[in-house]
Amino acid sequence: MTDIKNNEQCDGCGNTAKLKKNNGTEFCDDCLELADAIKKRPETIKRICKLIKSDIQQTDHSDPENTQTPKFIDLPEVLNAVRYRTRDRELNTWYVSVSELDGDPVEIFASTAFDRDDQLQSRISNLTTITRLVSLILRNVFLGEVLTLGKTIKQLKRSSRQKNDLPDMLTNVLRGYENEANS
Ligand SMILES: [Zn+2]
Repeated sequence: MTDIKNNEQCDGCGNTAKLKKNNGTEFCDDCLELADAIKKRPETIKRICKLIKSDIQQTDHSDPENTQTPKFIDLPEVLNAVRYRTRDRELNTWYVSVSELDGDPVEIFASTAFDRDDQLQSRISNLTTITRLVSLILRNVFLGEVLTLGKTIKQLKRSSRQKNDLPDMLTNVLRGYENEANS
């Protein structure tokens, strides 16, 4: 049920406008649109909020009255880790360990019992992986870019040159955490 009220204060933005009543709340057209988006696409809204946070923080830092600093969580001495056994394209067995904090992946390692000569493609993709991820970290450290699991996976995916090379394997393992991180 929607009924229209003229020139009253919007419950959302506080502006005086033509309002539409919806479940006891009165919104202007702009706020109604926002409310609909939040209701219909909560995951998208959350992700967008996370992504634009870097802009907001940078704006806040330029404000000398703002003394807020981002909160960092110290990693505990002991972390639970989940070890995944996986295979690369040469059928070498690899062990990918993901350290978890409250179910979130905070570290990832890969090791193998085999020590074969790497093909050139593999070396290139590994080097690309390192440089892409270090670049992501540097942008976080020096530019305040917000790091997300999605961005990490994107860099890994772009580093891959062949199916089941190292970055592709890590991408597949970390993807299992992507929906949890976004919820
Ligand atoms: Zn409004």
